[in-house]
Amino acid sequence: MKTQKITKNMSINEIIKKFPQSIGVFNKFNLDSCCGGAESLENAAKKSEVDLAILIEAIDNAIETPREKGHNCARCGNSSDEILLIQCEIEKGSSFVCARCLPFYIHGGH
Ligand SMILES: [Zn+2]
Repeated sequence: MKTQKITKNMSINEIIKKFPQSIGVFNKFNLDSCCGGAESLENAAKKSEVDLAILIEAIDNAIETPREKGHNCARCGNSSDEILLIQCEIEKGSSFVCARCLPFYIHGGH
């Protein structure tokens, strides 16, 4: 049995801070990672009617996926050697976004 890095009592904010890769999962499940990020994972899942076990598993998988090298930020072009890049699904599919540009996508460009 593998150890779980996240628990249902952690807040979404906490999880994203520790594991930025998890943000794609929250987006996928339509969980509010911005304004509702202070909620515990359990409450947020309940609110969005997402199965908690499925959610935790998806986050675990995202966390365990190794960060790939040699990509560039879809917005500013920073390479993964310079800054943390996070794989996201934006517009036409999977893409990489640097930590600095991520808020742009979270908040929809304002
Ligand atoms: Zn960027």
